[in-house]
Parts: sequence; C-alpha cells; structure tokens
Amino acid sequence: MRPNPKNRAVFLDRDGTLFPDADYLDDPSKIRLFPGVIPALKKIKAGGWKVIVGTNQSGIGRGYFSHATVRGIHARLLALCRGGGARIDKIYYCPHRPDQGCSCRKPRTGMLKAARRDFRLDLKKCVVVGDKRCDVDWGRAVGAKSVLVLTGHGRKSGAATRRRAHRVAKTLAHAADWILEQ
Ligand SMILES: [Mg+2]
Ligand SMILES: [Zn+2]
Repeated sequence: MRPNPKNRAVFLDRDGTLFPDADYLDDPSKIRLFPGVIPALKKIKAGGWKVIVGTNQSGIGRGYFSHATVRGIHARLLALCRGGGARIDKIYYCPHRPDQGCSCRKPRTGMLKAARRDFRLDLKKCVVVGDKRCDVDWGRAVGAKSVLVLTGHGRKSGAATRRRAHRVAKTLAHAADWILEQ
C-alpha cells in the first residue's frame, strides 16, 4: 500500500526515553515513567501524530528473559499510559542479539518499515526520539528527523552524536514541544 502523506508518526525509544534504562528490565512493576511523559504523549497525539515505540530487547536473544516477559512489560507500559489518558498506538521490539545480523535491530530499519506498512506512514515526515546514537541513526536511515533526549544514556552522549541529531532535547517533554513546531 502506498503511504498516505498525512500519516506521520513519532517513534519513541523505550528505555532511557520513557523510563529509566535499567539494564535488561524484566519486572513490569518496576516501570516508573519519567516526569512529563504522559502529557508529552498526549500533546504529540493531539498534534495528529501516531505514537509508536520501537525498542531493542536483545535480552531475549541472550536468554536473559522471554518474549512473554517483554510483552508483560509492554502491557504495563500501555496500562500506565492509558491510566494517564495517553495512548501508544503500537510497540515494536527487536528480540535479537547484535551478532544475529537481523534487519530489525536499531539502527537497522526493520521496525520502521513494519510500521510504515502497518500505518501507511510517510517515514520522511516522521520523527524519531531516543537517548542513544543508534536512535539518532535509526531516524536518519529513513530520512526522518531525529531528536536526541538527554535522559537515560543521553546525558553521556558525545559531541558527534549531538551534532548528528536534528535536535537535542532535555527530556521527552521538550522533544514534544519541538515536534509540535514541525
Ligand atoms: Mg534507550
Ligand atoms: Zn532484530
């Protein structure tokens, strides 16, 4: 199906962007959204954007936890958002280890392309938000705009990563304000 130019999305990284990056998070009850995430999601949605999460979860491929664990965490994330009146349209995740050479591990574009099909998106009109270089490169790889947030690993990001982003934002809330100006 051809993309509909009116269909645009904000792609959000999960760990370090929506909530703190705990190495290989496996317990849904430990999720605590960063302050301002719910209002930011509402604002993005109200601006006419799809809200999509894309996350690398190599802990599955490494045998640290299962698909069911990750799905449990995502169910909790969706419930927390719903409870605050915000909505995530879909969550994609890559379960593979880096050495498996899959096409979905960020910065490879498999998840973006799956979302393009699912939502008939024009990826060039989309925005990617994340706390790591791989997120910035992920958006760049499809001609989307990339926002680096300084939460999670973002605080430690080097000058090259910051330069490569179209925008550096302190938090997702700041990123949302910039996105709404686009
Ligand atoms: Mg992250
Ligand atoms: Zn993958």
